[in-house]
Amino acid sequence: MVSENTEEYLEAIWVLEEKGQKIRIIDLADHLNIKPPSVLEKLKKLEEEKLVTYNKNEGIKFTKKGEMGGKMVIRAHRILESLFAYLRIEEDDMEKLSCACEHISKGTVNKICTFLNHPETCPHGKKIPRGECCKNI
Ligand SMILES: [Zn+2]
Ligand SMILES: [Zn+2]
Repeated sequence: MVSENTEEYLEAIWVLEEKGQKIRIIDLADHLNIKPPSVLEKLKKLEEEKLVTYNKNEGIKFTKKGEMGGKMVIRAHRILESLFAYLRIEEDDMEKLSCACEHISKGTVNKICTFLNHPETCPHGKKIPRGECCKNI
């Protein structure tokens, strides 16, 4: 099981990767609002856990395992946003709630996804990675 802190990193890397640019330490530090030396330290741990690779030329990249982890967190975040939008929860609370709840289990995310009829994008128009529940539709 990955720690919540690790999940925050995986989520941030996913979001930065979506932009299609090389991810530098400074980009991740800015995004997470954490000082670059702390980010570098954490990256070493993520590399040990084989979740990411990092070198100056390539920047930060997901391994297959890291990408799967990032996908799960992002999916939970965006499915929850969709649920909160459905419930007409205000934007401000939406962000706070999604951050607090995104560590819920995959099974719960799939149940919400099914309830919402498997939305393809979040209320911000960002792509929601597909889950097992979205197959056969
Ligand atoms: Zn969103
Ligand atoms: Zn689904």
